[in-house]
Amino acid sequence: MPVRRQEAYPADLARRPTPQAEGYDAILANIHDLVRDLERRANTPCRVGIGTPGAISSRTGCLKNSNTVSLNGRPVKQDLEQLLARDVRIANDANCFALSEAIDGAGKGYGVVFGVILGTGVGGGIVFHGRLHEGLQHIAGEWGHNVLEPDGPPCYCGKRGCVETFLSGPGLVNDYLAHGAAQGRASAAGDRMSEAAKEVLEDLVAAAMNDAVRKAEQTTQQKMSGLTAGLNIPGLNLPF
Ligand SMILES: [Zn+2]
Repeated sequence: MPVRRQEAYPADLARRPTPQAEGYDAILANIHDLVRDLERRANTPCRVGIGTPGAISSRTGCLKNSNTVSLNGRPVKQDLEQLLARDVRIANDANCFALSEAIDGAGKGYGVVFGVILGTGVGGGIVFHGRLHEGLQHIAGEWGHNVLEPDGPPCYCGKRGCVETFLSGPGLVNDYLAHGAAQGRASAAGDRMSEAAKEVLEDLVAAAMNDAVRKAEQTTQQKMSGLTAGLNIPGLNLPF
């Protein structure tokens, strides 16, 4: 859970693991301690903005669809504002990332930007001409729970074979254990995954991303085919 200090201060970055197993109160206490620690080091009050998987429901005000399931259905924003005694802004992390890249990052100058996150989970955000396309549920760019294989592994969302069950870090580990390691095709020393698992992953990334772009085209009636043409999947710089 990284927090970057404002540019007016010396560059600083603090990271703490999310205490998933300890539950809701421990996670909020962790955020509180992180903010207080940064404030001590900056010697000034901080403003707090949080990018998180999932979204705040406009109906209930509670977080929904987070892969940290203990946060779902809870008034995270209100509780943090009470705990930290200030306003807190919360938005979907993939939307934040996509908007940032579209404005002054890798997507600067492009009319349509699809930002993709491959990490612990799989996320994404869509930006049209500098404006985030959130959709009614604030998750228009989310492609991690599109079904890639209907008979695939169970997902925490309740479906089977979601993109996230294959392309996330844990999904890659599972595939490596099932295919790469079992086939004895471990890569040379220094590589972090077997060639077999890597080839499967590259094929799955291409298939899943093609499906996501096709769905976005159908939904928005925007021409996004340039995105697929620009993909270079075999040279993908994977974060694992
Ligand atoms: Zn799912």
